[in-house]
Amino acid sequence: MMIRIALIIAILGCLSLTATWLAGNPGNVSITWLGYEIETSFAFLIFAITTAVVTGLIIYHLLFALLRTPKNISRNRAMRHQQEGLRVLTEAIAAITVSEYDMAQRLTRRAEKLLDAPPITLLLSAQLSQLKGDDGKAKEYLEEMLKNPETEYLAMRGLIENARRHNDYFLALAHAERAYASRPGNKWVLMTLIDLYSYLGRWQEAQMTVERSLKKRHFTRDEARRYSAIIHFEQGKRLLKEGDENSALQFFAQAHAKYVGFIPVALTYATLKADYASKEEAAKIIRETWRMAPHPALAEKYISLFSSEKEDQFIKRVEKLVKFNPSHKESRLAVAAGAIQASRWQQAREQLALVLSEEENARACKLMAEIEQKESGNVTNAAQWLIRATNAAPEPGWSCSNCGHISQQWDIHCDSCGSFDTISWKITTFPYLGKSERSELTLVSA
Ligand SMILES: [Zn+2]
Repeated sequence: MMIRIALIIAILGCLSLTATWLAGNPGNVSITWLGYEIETSFAFLIFAITTAVVTGLIIYHLLFALLRTPKNISRNRAMRHQQEGLRVLTEAIAAITVSEYDMAQRLTRRAEKLLDAPPITLLLSAQLSQLKGDDGKAKEYLEEMLKNPETEYLAMRGLIENARRHNDYFLALAHAERAYASRPGNKWVLMTLIDLYSYLGRWQEAQMTVERSLKKRHFTRDEARRYSAIIHFEQGKRLLKEGDENSALQFFAQAHAKYVGFIPVALTYATLKADYASKEEAAKIIRETWRMAPHPALAEKYISLFSSEKEDQFIKRVEKLVKFNPSHKESRLAVAAGAIQASRWQQAREQLALVLSEEENARACKLMAEIEQKESGNVTNAAQWLIRATNAAPEPGWSCSNCGHISQQWDIHCDSCGSFDTISWKITTFPYLGKSERSELTLVSA
């Protein structure tokens, strides 16, 4: 603004100086044109030309503004529509989150008109149809979304979920392959593809997807090892179900070799090995995994393998299990459990005291109660330990990172939400939410 004022003052100054100079030096101009003769001063000629140019400019600006007026009016109207459309859209999303689906549908239709059918209203309409149980209508909206590059990926996700809900795994795979072609590095797409290939028994394609993803660096080396192990594991479980234990053992061996720290594989593999081969080999599998990932279920399995052995030999075996990580909490608890079984009360107490010196552990308290009862029959002390156990730190468990569902054991699919590879061993600090209480905006948040 200051620059503009300074510029105007400078121009006016120049004009005034020029006018003063011209007044002092009027000069003469003579023009002969089409038989007319005009005699005037040079100053007057300059004044006449300047006046004509300025008048021309003013007329031009006035005409331009007059012509633009309708355009401005329509632009203002479009802006008002857009603002109103966005407000209505926000209300529609709010209505979905509080399960007012009819209201959300009305608002979505209005937003669609105001915003001239943008992709987001299609997405909301698809989501609403799905929530209202009209999968057919949802499919129509999702297919419409496929035409728009901005919503193509979300549409493919929705169509995959839709096909899976109707147990049409071939259609789900066709959509997943299309999604992979457009987004080969997307983790969700990769896991869905591996999941569907495995489900349909197309193991080789599942493994190839992992290898390709590792080569293209869409998977880290650890991720590739894990998914490769999962595919071998699932293949082994399928064979076990069909009664082919020998082939199952081979696949479990491959899964274990790929990912030694994978507890569910080690447990299943060791159990089958103990049943169909030898306990020694089963114990070796558990020891290998324990070294990487000590886990109570592994300790339980290991102890159960040798519980009929003599005390000294049995304790030596338990000590062999924890050889590489004896001060790990799970190692101390495993030795304590083994010592109780061998009636070595002092050794059990020592191990549990070490665990309890670090944290108020529920399992350690329960084992202390067992010692009190078995060693001296002291029921009062045992009861006190059990009360202490109820106030101890929460224990970890297998739970789904997608819906929070807690399962008794690991599985590749969550029992509650069906998601792939979301179950892990961890302490759940939030209460378990049932299916109906989970976020309903699955498509929107996808
Ligand atoms: Zn789940």
